[in-house]
Amino acid sequence: MQTFQQYIGGEFANGAQTFASINPANGEAWAQMPAADKAQTRAAVAAAKKAFDDWRSQTASSRARLLYKVADLVSERAADLALLETRDTGKIIRETEAQIGYVAEFYRYFAGLADKTQGAHLPIDKADMEVWTRREAIGVAAAIVPWNSQLFLAAVKIAPALAAGCTIVVKASEDGPAPLLAFAQIINDAGFPPGAVNIVCGFGEECGATLVAHEDIARVAFTGGAQTARNVVIGTAQNLAHTTTELGGKSPVIVFEDADVESAANAVVAGIFAASGQSCVACSRLLAHEKIKDKLLLALKQKAEAINIGDPAKRETEMGPLCTMRQLENIATLVGAAKDEGADLVCGGKRALAESGGFYWQPTILDCPPKGVRAAREELFGPVLCAQSFANEDEALRMANDTNYGLACGVFTRDLTRAHRIARGARAGIVWLNTYRAISPIAPFGGFGMSGYGREGGAESILEYTRAKTIWLRTSDDAIADPFVMR
Ligand code: NAD
Repeated sequence: MQTFQQYIGGEFANGAQTFASINPANGEAWAQMPAADKAQTRAAVAAAKKAFDDWRSQTASSRARLLYKVADLVSERAADLALLETRDTGKIIRETEAQIGYVAEFYRYFAGLADKTQGAHLPIDKADMEVWTRREAIGVAAAIVPWNSQLFLAAVKIAPALAAGCTIVVKASEDGPAPLLAFAQIINDAGFPPGAVNIVCGFGEECGATLVAHEDIARVAFTGGAQTARNVVIGTAQNLAHTTTELGGKSPVIVFEDADVESAANAVVAGIFAASGQSCVACSRLLAHEKIKDKLLLALKQKAEAINIGDPAKRETEMGPLCTMRQLENIATLVGAAKDEGADLVCGGKRALAESGGFYWQPTILDCPPKGVRAAREELFGPVLCAQSFANEDEALRMANDTNYGLACGVFTRDLTRAHRIARGARAGIVWLNTYRAISPIAPFGGFGMSGYGREGGAESILEYTRAKTIWLRTSDDAIADPFVMR
């Protein structure tokens, strides 16, 4: 079995314990992963704290040079990293390769922002004062990532943190950590000072909880589920760390009667069946105008049934397994309940390729009544689409917003003014008009409500790793007059 290590203070380190990682394509243990205990987690924070003064004092352009180096090394080693992610999480190789291309782009983007993150000179209304702000690195950051897209979700945290002058401790998920642990070699080879980036792996209650509540952590960037986010926020009540949360969703795609049905169907397939639906922005709700609903569901059923399910490492595979057995069981429960709650099964609804031992689930479409189906309200994080119909624009928007989540909203229409109205009215952090699941380092990403707060990506996101310091300079040589009057 392959063995993975953590990276603490510039050294590769075994875990306090180890655990087996399962290949979701066949259910077999394939690697030994390290698990940090509390002491090891604290050691990683201590290393990051020790490195902080030196790292933040480096010029912005020298910090950027190392980030460009990371991007180049990620590009050079993309094939190996993609294969590791595919093996450890079951995500298909075409997707992991494409996503690692984005990982490199995010490092380049934030490298470019390092020397553009600046304070301001303030035109203060006092003739004898100069006032300016400095944007200073906030301190030691902690990044917590979920099992899906770990390299990518770590990049959107590590890159702005380092560019801003923070040092960081990243906690890989206990599920599928291989690519992020392997990425430590890139940090090592790029030549960062020891402790600038530390990568630990471990379980939430021990490693994660210790990390987020540590007295020397000033910033927590969390991606995961809403219940875990609540625990994280409770943890940060200890250190009052500046915290952002990127959580799940129950994102709708609204397809109006004037839409190109074929194009919308392809976008919905991409939105819910790509990555086996294990994407925070998965469009798990389809809201279809009643005039085109049947036609759209037929097109979707044909496309879903034609999806090539199988070994995620094979290039021809279009849908791989779910990451864990836990996921499979949760989906089986909610899909089973949906049928009792009044939903009609359009296609799928069963485990697939069970003989392989892998955690495969058929692409599933449920035709749901307006209310009462749990699967249409809760995040399943799997390839399950819940379809509902609407009669007019107001109803479509009301149904789209009828969720505690608010991550993404897709709209398919040829009516430009309607598209604008929906974009304005949607309670979601991202609105995709006539497209879905598009991404760029330049575009902020994040949610409303139970989908979390804070934004990752985009120029403003680097500010979340800084704080403003305001400096006042009195330019007069005259003695200070009345001490009892505020200046
Ligand atoms: P999870 O919430 O179970 O775990 C996320 C991480 O938190 C893991 O690393 C876990 O070890 C850690 N953790 C658990 N308890 C902790 C604690 N008390 N303190 C600190 N850390 C703790 O999520 P998951 O099942 O791994 O991932 C799936 C979830 O992530 C879904 O809800 C999905 O929508 C969400 N997600 C969101 C985005 C986004 O950008 N909005 C992206 C990907 C995934």
